[in-house]
Amino acid sequence: TATTENRSFEADVSRLLHMMVHSVYSDRDVFLRELISNAADACEKLRYEAIATPALIENGGKPAITIAADPEAGTLSISDNGIGMSRDEMIEALGTIARSGTRAFMEQVEAAKGKEGAQLIGQFGVGFYSSFMVASEVDVVSRRAGSDEAWRWISDGKGEFSVSPAALDDAPGRGTRVTLKLLEDAKTYAERWTLERIVKAQSGHVPVPIALVEKPGAEPTPLADGAALWTKPKSEITPAEYTDFYRSLAAQYDEPAATVHFRAEGRHEYTALAFVPGSKPFDLFDAERKGRMKLYVKRVFITDEAELLPRYLRFVRGLVDTSDLPLNVSREMIQDSPLLVAIKKGVTSRVLLDLGKLSESEPETFAAIWGNFGAVVKEGLYEDYERREQLLGLARFRTTASGEGLRSLKDYAAALKENQTAIYYIVGDDLARIAASPQLEGFRARGVEVLLLNDHVDSFWASSAPDFDGKPFKSITQGAADLGLIPLVNGDAQPSAATSPQVDALIEAFKQILTSEVADVRASDRLTDSAVCLVAPDKGPDRQFEKLLSAAGR
Ligand code: ADP
Ligand code: MG
Repeated sequence: TATTENRSFEADVSRLLHMMVHSVYSDRDVFLRELISNAADACEKLRYEAIATPALIENGGKPAITIAADPEAGTLSISDNGIGMSRDEMIEALGTIARSGTRAFMEQVEAAKGKEGAQLIGQFGVGFYSSFMVASEVDVVSRRAGSDEAWRWISDGKGEFSVSPAALDDAPGRGTRVTLKLLEDAKTYAERWTLERIVKAQSGHVPVPIALVEKPGAEPTPLADGAALWTKPKSEITPAEYTDFYRSLAAQYDEPAATVHFRAEGRHEYTALAFVPGSKPFDLFDAERKGRMKLYVKRVFITDEAELLPRYLRFVRGLVDTSDLPLNVSREMIQDSPLLVAIKKGVTSRVLLDLGKLSESEPETFAAIWGNFGAVVKEGLYEDYERREQLLGLARFRTTASGEGLRSLKDYAAALKENQTAIYYIVGDDLARIAASPQLEGFRARGVEVLLLNDHVDSFWASSAPDFDGKPFKSITQGAADLGLIPLVNGDAQPSAATSPQVDALIEAFKQILTSEVADVRASDRLTDSAVCLVAPDKGPDRQFEKLLSAAGR
């Protein structure tokens, strides 16, 4: 018709679609979870908008998702009675890529070739566009809540889509219906048992009930009850249920490495359910990456932009549901709410406490968590002074004594040598290289353990002068090594530094030649085999930090 408009996808969408369709190894089941999660999001958005505008939900029934299959025609539709989309929202949401991180993700998939790339897709919530993994055509009809217009979006996923007005009698009374014309080799997605299996495995705990209509004219049968998992007592929830919930909440396909679920009572009442992912998200260090905790008020989703955990725990996924905020709280108000500050404090403490317990009860699980996220947690060492001691307690390190394993500062403190008064560390980019530094010679000769730090954040926290158990941290690439009082492992007498006139003369000669290059030249007990090494002055940045600063142009 005259009002049908054809448009091209944004270039990045075409790239994404191409990638998905051609990654034959990826798990195609995920499309259903993506469409169900969009339907559930739409119901939650409506629930939230209706707090301010109750008229929006006067008609149209309770939030519900319906999956309708037609095995003979080979079609499948997913409908919801949620917020719906206007014409402009449709064009924006289904023609561009809004999500931050998606581009970075695509670059990673393209860099990793073949099968590896396909696995990356599997780990990532690929969103609405994943429908084209199973469909030759996708037809979306939507009616925005409160609107008397409906719109239709159609595409074969090959570069273009069309948008046209839809007849009201062919549109949901409110919300969205996504219909897939299934590809020849994807017809199984119109069969009851396949749908049942996938919904149970992936979406059994979305907070909106899901029903299945197995063929045209059949009665809907319930597949999932929409009960919010977090409201159940812990003892009634199985590990598989937690995993399933985590996956639908976080759009991750891995297993959570740790689950923290508790109800706070007393001054503030809230329930928190938080997961530490089992694998490292690709955008962990993305500067724009926000926390991923959702805020609910009495089971109504309010926002995922309230900062419910500090930045250094931004890898934790989960939610907080409180009854202490009014339902009509605005998203803006939330940021400054003292209640939220208290909740953030409570949830942070509990997550750190549980991680601490895990580090004792399941050291290997904890080591894996630390391997994935330790570099982020260490940001807390300079961002959260109040918890520095606790975070230092969680921290694990490669050291000159750790071999392939990891050591805690408690381990370190228990292995101090006679007269050792500091915790020594060396920072660099490459573990093997720092482990081979000449600066370590004198420490090795005395059996003094040195932390080998190679995360980007290490220079920052280590130079912010923390101490642990009363012992200051000291960079071995800075200042005098003061090892003279610590006995040598082989029992030799301490080498006497800078006593002979020859050595003094040599130092004097070096000083003159290097006068514009170095601030000082001195004899040191830091070295045993090497002749010389560079160190930074006593005060100020250590060697690695100096390099960082000069790289940053300061
Ligand atoms: P995400 O869900 O992460 O935003 P998607 O690709 O899954 O990314 O969806 C893109 C957007 O399309 C959503 O943010 C939403 O605005 C819109 N959308 C998709 N499905 C629906 C739906 N059933 N109801 C309303 N809006 C929808
Ligand atoms: Mg989505």
